[in-house]
Amino acid sequence: MTQSTLSREETKQTLPNWISGKATFSQSEHTLPVLSPHNGEVIAHVPLSNLEEVDYAIREARAAQKSWADTPVKERVQVMYRFKQILENKIDTLANIIHIENGKTIDEAKAGIQKGIECVEYAASLPQISGGESLNVSRGVECKMFRRPLGVVAGITPFNFPVMVPLWMIPLAISLGNAFILKPSEQTPLASIELAKDLKEAGLPEGVFSVIHGDKAIVEALCDHPHVKAVGFVGSTPVAKQVYARTTHLGKRARCMGGAKNHLTVVPDADPEMASSNIVASVTGCAGQRCMAASVLIAVGDVDHIIQKVYEKMQQVIPGRNMGPVISQRAKDRICGYLNRCEQGGARLILDGRETSSEGSEHGFYIGPSIIDHASPGHESILDEVFGPVLTIIRVDTLEEAITIENNSPYGNAAAIYTCSGRVADTYRQRVNAGMVGINIGVPVPREPFSFGGWNLSRFGDGDITGASAIEFWSQPQKVTTKWESRHRENWMS
Ligand code: NAD
Repeated sequence: MTQSTLSREETKQTLPNWISGKATFSQSEHTLPVLSPHNGEVIAHVPLSNLEEVDYAIREARAAQKSWADTPVKERVQVMYRFKQILENKIDTLANIIHIENGKTIDEAKAGIQKGIECVEYAASLPQISGGESLNVSRGVECKMFRRPLGVVAGITPFNFPVMVPLWMIPLAISLGNAFILKPSEQTPLASIELAKDLKEAGLPEGVFSVIHGDKAIVEALCDHPHVKAVGFVGSTPVAKQVYARTTHLGKRARCMGGAKNHLTVVPDADPEMASSNIVASVTGCAGQRCMAASVLIAVGDVDHIIQKVYEKMQQVIPGRNMGPVISQRAKDRICGYLNRCEQGGARLILDGRETSSEGSEHGFYIGPSIIDHASPGHESILDEVFGPVLTIIRVDTLEEAITIENNSPYGNAAAIYTCSGRVADTYRQRVNAGMVGINIGVPVPREPFSFGGWNLSRFGDGDITGASAIEFWSQPQKVTTKWESRHRENWMS
């Protein structure tokens, strides 16, 4: 894997916010270093913006939103057509930024951008899929539904997909006539400014999109601000829960996606080659830092031949070569902590990634793939979101037991089964407790127009973060009932 570097000048820079269509440096004296996961070096500094700057960004956004909302939707989405083209043209540059700040491989970074581009396409199709409705509801009386924007809205995003997750929200929210304020993760803040520049190049009017850097204080300020009408959040479950409570307590909309603990189930009739490759990809892709990543494998009956293949293929995943580092030393320590306690508790660690480092990047946050076998259902590595390349295997005798274990998880983002039987797959699908289900697919991310969203502790608020229900979230329906003639006396509404 190539390790990209930034120039000395770039590493010294404190990143700007993006307000009113331009890079705007924060007056705050407080910054955080952004560390390269590849080698631990400082690659930039992110400002912890102050509350006056939040207020200023919202004022500018409000001013811009009024004329943006008056722009016909067919004109608004022209920005999205151009934005899509720009993203496609500079996918290499963007992927490299993600690679540098997040640690993903270039291919993983590109895949995330491509999924984001799909959300841009979906937003561009708004006039076709959400043009409003009208019906003759009674003689001489017509009802129409107009979809109106909310005003200024905000999105708060995690470190693990610096482009894709913002693009789950930005294109739709903006195309619906809102002004959008993004608070990106302070661990991966670089790509957000690129998105701002790209939107400007695509013709988005100044102030309709802003970026404000910071941490908890900025998130709280956005939730609390009377002129922020809705908050979309993607991140860990405890924070999703807090942001949801804080925002909805004020009578505002919030849709908050949380963490995950995804269970895969493999039964003896599964295709060994397909299942094993897919399980390994699900565990190790993005170094296990995906809310859709496999975390628990429930092995039903005699599937040793498949587990053996998983073990062999997992050994071919080499940190620094075909798998990136995790985001921080803290994340690495947390993951190793699970493995340490697991070993002390007597579980079988059949593949141990703790001692791994990547040649030439000894100070990077690398950790190799790990497998814990014969874990008991109550084990912490079964219950908690580990968020690293760790697979915990539970052995059971029946599909019934497997479904019970999966159903007991308080999360509900994704679940998958490996089988060649349609009947088994369908039983599993009907009884599993997750919003996104894979049949022989370990990362069952729905492609647009199918929407993305989990259940239970993986989501606070109703509806999904993309797709049709996101159109509902970022807009409000206005119903207009009209009568122009008085002659229709038989109408009970008159
Ligand atoms: P995180 O919750 O630590 O941070 C997410 C955002 O919240 C960041 O912008 C951060 O600055 C902010 N934040 C952090 N602590 C806060 C606090 N106390 N109050 C207010 N704001 C706060 O998440 P992360 O570590 O950046 O991302 C990984 C997590 O995101 C994992 O749990 C993963 O499963 C989850 N995730 C979920 C989805 C999904 O769709 N369900 C998608 C991607 C990631």
